[in-house]
Amino acid sequence: MQSLKDRILSDGKVRPGNVLKVDSFLNHQMDIHILEEIGAEFKRRFEDANINKILTIEASGIAIACMVAKSFDVPLVFAKKNQTKNIAGDVYSSRVTSYTHSRVYDVIVSKEFLTADDRVLLIDDFLANGCALEGLIDIVDQSGAMLEGIGIVIEKHFQGGGDRLREKGIRLESLAIIESMTDDSLKFKD
Ligand code: 5GP
Repeated sequence: MQSLKDRILSDGKVRPGNVLKVDSFLNHQMDIHILEEIGAEFKRRFEDANINKILTIEASGIAIACMVAKSFDVPLVFAKKNQTKNIAGDVYSSRVTSYTHSRVYDVIVSKEFLTADDRVLLIDDFLANGCALEGLIDIVDQSGAMLEGIGIVIEKHFQGGGDRLREKGIRLESLAIIESMTDDSLKFKD
């Protein structure tokens, strides 16, 4: 998606540890117009898939996934990072290692909102090593739902998570794929 790549080049900031900050339009301040475009682009790419539910992980995936859910006209469910008192034990749960925060946490989804009847599109902002997605895939597997595909806004290809998922035969669409990045250069994969 060219407008996204242009925006990454103009506004993205490379931080130590291979972290790309896109806080001015995606992860802190949000540009609703580019979010709308992202929602429409995933709809176009997964038009043929029979998707009835969008699943993401809190927090930064939620706004993006909202736009995707709107373009498919289906509900969005987000995996919660902490078990709260409001959610009974009736949950699917998986363990995730956070790339940006270097910690391990559990993600949960209520069994009420994901069942074997669902055909799921996973959405997230970034794909690095793939741990967050592996947690979500595990939750989809536990529910018996069908994983139709994964939509990622920014894939950092050099970290290998995307190719590991593709090798498993999972349909993965990334709107901007970064081949390499340093403080003063950022290259996209064609
Ligand atoms: P993974 O689990 O694939 O290693 O990392 C994916 C998760 O870590 C994403 O949900 C995202 O929140 C965060 N993340 C990974 N790399 C980056 C990055 O370069 N920039 C930002 N802002 N978040 C990242």
